[in-house]
Amino acid sequence: MRCDACGDESVVAFDVPDELREYAPDEAGVAAICPTCLDVRSASDADVQGGDAADAAASAHDAFPADPDAAAGVALLLGLLESLVLNKSEIQSLVDHLEASGTDVFLVLDRLEADPDVDPQVDLERRRPQLQQLIE
Ligand SMILES: [Zn+2]
Repeated sequence: MRCDACGDESVVAFDVPDELREYAPDEAGVAAICPTCLDVRSASDADVQGGDAADAAASAHDAFPADPDAAAGVALLLGLLESLVLNKSEIQSLVDHLEASGTDVFLVLDRLEADPDVDPQVDLERRRPQLQQLIE
């Protein structure tokens, strides 16, 4: 699948766990993330290509947690980071949810930011301190 934002062909579609549905674009059951620009959008079942859909999110990037649910949560969080203002309450509860299940959200952001192959649409370097402030 092709990324609308940067043209990368390796966009990864993944299943959104039911409890994370409210954080997904259009609250869809399937979302997709671009491993290059980290653009997140809703997708359809047809976009999930073979293999184990549950592991797809985790495979989007090495920095993502190996647990499929946690990886999906991190991917959805990256989508929400596009607007801290509009998505403030969702971001706060999603980060709470991820941290409670043992995911170090900031470590993932650091690793993505450090990867030269990742060219995020969202300025992660600027977002990180803003996010930290938001959830304190
Ligand atoms: Zn992209």
